[in-house]
Amino acid sequence: SSHYAAKAMGCFVLPIGASMAERQVDYLVNPGSTVLLSTPSFALYIAERMNQRGIDPSDIPLRIGCFGGEAGAEIAPTRKKIQTRLGIEAYDYFGLAEIGPTCSSECEEKAGLHWVEDHLLVEIIDPDTNKRCDPGETGVLVLTHLTKEAVPMLRYWSDDLARLTTEKCACGRTHARSEGGILGRADDMIIYKGANFYPVQVEKVIRSFEELGDEFRIRLSTDEKTGIDVITVIAEYKTKEVDNVEFKNKVKRAFREELEVTPELDLVEPGTLERTMFKAKRVEDKRVKAD
Ligand SMILES: [Zn+2]
Repeated sequence: SSHYAAKAMGCFVLPIGASMAERQVDYLVNPGSTVLLSTPSFALYIAERMNQRGIDPSDIPLRIGCFGGEAGAEIAPTRKKIQTRLGIEAYDYFGLAEIGPTCSSECEEKAGLHWVEDHLLVEIIDPDTNKRCDPGETGVLVLTHLTKEAVPMLRYWSDDLARLTTEKCACGRTHARSEGGILGRADDMIIYKGANFYPVQVEKVIRSFEELGDEFRIRLSTDEKTGIDVITVIAEYKTKEVDNVEFKNKVKRAFREELEVTPELDLVEPGTLERTMFKAKRVEDKRVKAD
């Protein structure tokens, strides 16, 4: 795992539980960790707690963060927030239990996840045709072990969506990369009024507004009277002043551009939405399904 890999590199590893935000902050101050490995959601939560305790990013020696477990580090507004609030360079990395803890990571160019192609055969498959996608085309990530001796996986269907490029990276590495990282889960796709989109696209919009908090929820429901499906995005305002029609319309227009649908927007007080520590579950689908 990343734990043993870091140890093998000579790092001193402090394993801290995912629910221990206060202790995380303590350890960032003293002894002063220099690298943080967590989910992007948890990193933002740690930053929030740091801020509440009056600790400035320049007060801690943290330099680098590697973020996995969920998408986020490659979503530009999220990366920017993590970098600014923790005063670090933030990198995306990816692994999955069935294949290996970490099998791809960004390099210093932040140009997508480089795959460990010496250990894995990486394919992107079109789920409709089961044929390989062309470079740059989005499909399902399918992985085959090349060097694993116990329980090797042959063409493991991850259900994660990605694209692949074999163009040489500016860092000099020639390992294939997935630009933009993991783009979503095939089963995460929200189908609403003929448009398809992923929760990460909602995240991108929410986190591009400085007036809004980092947490959000997507609620899909069916209006009892009309039988029409309704989509509502719930987000936290930072100050009450932005809870007005004009600002909400600005956010809704940004949604329209990104998702091709316009959800309802519900703004709530800061701290209302529960902070996610590990893999974020932000979609609630209560639509009445037609028979
Ligand atoms: Zn590179």
